[in-house]
Amino acid sequence: METKSIKAYGTTAADADLNSMQINRRVVSLNDVEIEILYCGVCHSDLHFAKNDWGMTTYPVVPGHEIVGRVSNVGSGVSKYSTGDLVAVGCLVDSCRTCANCKDDLEQYCPEWIATYGGYDKHLDTTTHGGYSETIVVDEDFVLRVPENLDLAGIAPVLCAGITTWSPLRHWKVGKESKVAVVGLGGLGHMAIKLAHALGAHVTLFSRSTNKTQDALGLGADQVIISTEEAQMESVMNTFDLIIDTVPYAHDLNPYVGTLATNGTLVVVGYLGPLDPMLVTVPMIMGRKAVAGSLIGGIAETQELLDFCGKHNIISEVEVIKMKEINEAYERMLKSDVKYRFVIDMKSIKV
Ligand code: NAP
Ligand code: ZN
Ligand code: ZN
Repeated sequence: METKSIKAYGTTAADADLNSMQINRRVVSLNDVEIEILYCGVCHSDLHFAKNDWGMTTYPVVPGHEIVGRVSNVGSGVSKYSTGDLVAVGCLVDSCRTCANCKDDLEQYCPEWIATYGGYDKHLDTTTHGGYSETIVVDEDFVLRVPENLDLAGIAPVLCAGITTWSPLRHWKVGKESKVAVVGLGGLGHMAIKLAHALGAHVTLFSRSTNKTQDALGLGADQVIISTEEAQMESVMNTFDLIIDTVPYAHDLNPYVGTLATNGTLVVVGYLGPLDPMLVTVPMIMGRKAVAGSLIGGIAETQELLDFCGKHNIISEVEVIKMKEINEAYERMLKSDVKYRFVIDMKSIKV
């Protein structure tokens, strides 16, 4: 298959910095859209993957799955997009398209879904590479349309941080009567607050300190509960219909389960792995409370969210950085020192 060599930024080992590298992109075939990348958000998953936190990374890795750009070329069979269109790519670039999940617009649960980076690239028989790069080539069915009225850097994080919190809000039918809580105010957490608020819910943030209280209220939270303060935790026992937990590392879920209302659900989106400490079933049994998980969102649901953001003027709070600042950005993200998402201005990869 014909390929083009392009500039990217990635890493070759868990303990190495990200650096400039060349990668190959396929030349567009029948149903492909080639996108010149304008902005790419920096997700905590990029950091987990680059550092092999999940033990599944093959190197080299080019992270990035919050991609916004303009169509620069299309294959002859493409009907949905034309050159110049403003488009986006999120966390997945393909799936089997025939299984029950694919038919239900749940491509993210397809056993053969292809991640935007670190997945299997069947076209080039190699690993897929993400958005820390000049261009990307994606089948038109996995390309999304971006509303023209929104700031382009601000919309990029909607492609992962946004959809990962939107999907549980929609699945658990959050609306005006709902009481929603969010654990952790980072990239996912701040989008969860904005989106739950826009759906009309009463929104609470659980945070580790008072540092982010004013910001949370400004983003749409109705109250902030400091998770290390026992009396504050006690004050919200048996309260929430849905809790979205975005914390990236193992932590105790038990105090949060107690704050669920009867029939409430705590959905873990942040931490991937065994729980430590273990879950105590007593409050779950005594109140029919559930602990669940959720993975990003499907293509149709992501388009629904982009359209919702266009209609309600919702974007992420971003700190725009240059490509070469990425290693520093990772260090700052580890310290929760970002308000509230880094987004790379991809023009800066060219210099
Ligand atoms: P982030 O911007 O770094 O935010 C994480 C927040 O968690 C922090 O701001 C912090 O908020 C809180 N936190 C609590 N304990 C922490 C600790 N020990 N270390 C660091 N932060 C801690 O991360 P993100 O991009 O939102 O991603 C969050 C997690 O979701 C990551 O693990 C990522 O891989 C995962 N993720 C999952 C999906 C999915 O489909 N399920 C999709 C995207 C990302 P406070 O200071 O307010 O406590
Ligand atoms: Zn992500
Ligand atoms: Zn499938």
